[in-house]
Amino acid sequence: MSAAVEPAPLPSASAAVPATVVHKFGGTSVADADRYRHVAQLLLARGESTQVTVVSAMKGVTDALIELALLASRDDARWREHWHELRARHRGAAVSLLGEHAGGTVEWLDDRFDHLARILEALAVIGELPNEVLDRVQGLGEVYSAHLLGAHFRALGEDCAVLDARDVLVVDRGELGVDVGWETSAQRLATWRQSHPQSRVVVTGFVARDRNDRITTLGRNGSDYSGAIFAALFNADELHIWTDVDGVLSADPRVVPEAVQLETLSYDEACELAYFGAKVVHPQTMSPAMERGLPIIIRNTFQPGHPGTRIAAGATASGPIKGLTLSPDLAVLNLEGTGLIGVPGTAERVFAALRNAHVSVVMISQGSSEHSICCVVRQGEAGRARDALLHAFAHELSLGHVQRVQLTPGISVLAAVGDGMAGQPGVAARLFESLARAQVNILAIAQGSSERNISVAIDSRDATKALRAAHAGFWLSPQTFSVGVIGPGNVGAALLDQLHKAQPQLLSKARLDLRLRAVLSRKRMLLEPRAVEGDWRSAFAASTTPADLDQFTEHLLAARLPHAMIIDCSGSADVADRYAGWLAAGIHVVTPNKQAGAGPLPRFHAIRAAAAASGARFRYEATVGAGLPVITTLRDLVDTGDEVTAIAGIFSGTLAWLFNKYDGSVPFSALVAQARAMGYTEPDPRDDLSGVDVARKLVILAREAGRDLSLEDVQVESLVPESLRRSSVEDFMEHLHGVDAAFATRLQAARDRGNVLRYVAQLPASGPASVGLVELPASHAFANLQLTDNVVQFTTRRYCDNPLVVQGPGAGPEVTAAGVFADVLRVAAGEGARL
Ligand code: ADP
Ligand code: ASP
Ligand code: MG
Repeated sequence: MSAAVEPAPLPSASAAVPATVVHKFGGTSVADADRYRHVAQLLLARGESTQVTVVSAMKGVTDALIELALLASRDDARWREHWHELRARHRGAAVSLLGEHAGGTVEWLDDRFDHLARILEALAVIGELPNEVLDRVQGLGEVYSAHLLGAHFRALGEDCAVLDARDVLVVDRGELGVDVGWETSAQRLATWRQSHPQSRVVVTGFVARDRNDRITTLGRNGSDYSGAIFAALFNADELHIWTDVDGVLSADPRVVPEAVQLETLSYDEACELAYFGAKVVHPQTMSPAMERGLPIIIRNTFQPGHPGTRIAAGATASGPIKGLTLSPDLAVLNLEGTGLIGVPGTAERVFAALRNAHVSVVMISQGSSEHSICCVVRQGEAGRARDALLHAFAHELSLGHVQRVQLTPGISVLAAVGDGMAGQPGVAARLFESLARAQVNILAIAQGSSERNISVAIDSRDATKALRAAHAGFWLSPQTFSVGVIGPGNVGAALLDQLHKAQPQLLSKARLDLRLRAVLSRKRMLLEPRAVEGDWRSAFAASTTPADLDQFTEHLLAARLPHAMIIDCSGSADVADRYAGWLAAGIHVVTPNKQAGAGPLPRFHAIRAAAAASGARFRYEATVGAGLPVITTLRDLVDTGDEVTAIAGIFSGTLAWLFNKYDGSVPFSALVAQARAMGYTEPDPRDDLSGVDVARKLVILAREAGRDLSLEDVQVESLVPESLRRSSVEDFMEHLHGVDAAFATRLQAARDRGNVLRYVAQLPASGPASVGLVELPASHAFANLQLTDNVVQFTTRRYCDNPLVVQGPGAGPEVTAAGVFADVLRVAAGEGARL
């Protein structure tokens, strides 16, 4: 192979070191005039001194051309209609793209389409479709497409040369695909370059010429390979393959929506993934790049800022498996016979027979008993393959040494690929285990001795399920969550700070990546493509995007991370209305918001049902007792088969403090003012004194214990006098002294009986649930709490004489946020994080 030819020196590039980049745009990137415009702007914004752009046909055009040729060769008159449509689509694109400059291009297109019509007419006459003609026709889309982009550049005033690859690229179609005639191609390019020295070149993808000067193509999806070939011929520093996804993903995103983008891949890994069906890049693309150490970057035309996937030399292992692929439309061919045992050369005869029949073998597997040899072939070649084996082993079949040659159609191969699996035990076991759990039967197994790939043949009907199961089972790279936080107020802000601080440790120790990608307040939201790095406060303050929960949700899901989670630190009922939808879409929900847990029962049941159906988790530990493990304890009791007969406790840090302090020496209203000044109450202390918040917590616990309780069912004693319920906060504070006498009397009466006053929530074994001020003996557990401590007491079948008590500080943004965080980690652990 010759060295690639240097292009003639360019006037503009001669001063600086020329950085040459070859870009390839797939059909998905050039679907219509707008997209060509977008591509041109993207290219013009780049700084390389030589820019070579290889383009595919407009989306769907190759298929349309093949269809045209087939219709014409069957003399199906509809070809004319299709031909008109295709011409109109190209003319339309030219006019929209070039405006007043379109004339020449439309004329040029008309000429080409007339020529195409003549070929199609000839096909209709001969009534068949010779391969050479198909090759000639199917590559025309690239010729039109390159011309369009070139004309657009020129209309923008850019000097640009258009290279028809059929004029320079010479290839041979070998058994393993297409081989490039490097020397001839390089010479032809050098000659072409002499008359086309421009620094901007547009090249047709897909098409080439064979040694006999006949027009040919590089095979379906071959423009990626064209990109790599021209990168070699132009001696490029990098090849950028632009498509419609953020790079190579861990699996086909159409099958596994939670597939993750891979930041790096070795050439070998990329080859295996592509060979086994990752359509994002053509398998032959890697070889020209590999030989030259040329990096390939797969990136998204629609997200030019995204770094994409870098394919380059060297180990980039981060876990045993990088990606999983599916190859559909295959068949298993099994040669079985007792006479094969210990007979040398059987495998060789099988492969020789298949080779002679021009059947390519996708996968081979042979058990060590040598009783059978199994190979996987393409469905379209399966009949031919079986006949070839029947013929080759006719003698053994007649003697009974070979019992049968069996063909099973409708097969897919699932391949797990990664450099990191070499020398790592347990990788295959994990694959088989996840398939077994999903009840997928494996027909054949193969592992290359490079240990870069494990492939299994399965029934195509199981393929999607199998891919998803394996993907979920394998995800040994950090468990990554796309996280959105709603309500960055007191608790929300504390949580965001805690998250930020814990992140490095979680990533390194627990392999858990909690990526904060969205923050939403009532007015604004911040959506980050990857993650909010560093100081979330300033990033959020700088955002001007109006809050929109639909967009927020879409954004969280768009990342295709394995998991998504919304942490709702708002107190909003509207947000709670979204929970069921989020859970149904597989988004975990964690919240200290009491709206869902204590709100209308139908909504609560819908939320529970959505979580049960999708497997997404709904956690709300911090709704009761802030960071205390109240709900977790209750769940453990219920889950282990205990029965909760009664619940009682002090659920409000504010009310706990007020009655711990209230000894008659200071009037009750003065204590409230003190508590307010110290920040122990809500801004409006009536929110605490009304008892409704305590009642909500009781409802949440009751539901958790299995009772369908609603807020209306709870008898609530409000400590706010009727007359002060609707006035302003200031007015309320000013007139609160009116209650002092009544409280003093109540306290004295209690004391006379040796009792204390406490604001207690009660769910008795029978009778109504209530919250209110009660007298308790001075020796009671609730009578001896620290300051703002909360206490919850569970009486159960097991804990009947001596109830189970959870007690401790139950308020404050820090501990509440810690309670939320603990829920977040519980969800992560449930999804496989090693916490
Ligand atoms: P182009 O027209 O740009 O060549 P293709 O349609 O040929 O685009 O390839 C891109 C498509 O490949 C993506 O839209 C995606 O649906 C599919 N695909 C299949 N497997 C993968 C994978 N592992 N990673 C990324 N994309 C994949
Ligand atoms: N247009 C060709 C195809 O659809 C080549 C390519 O786009 O890569 O197969
Ligand atoms: Mg492609």
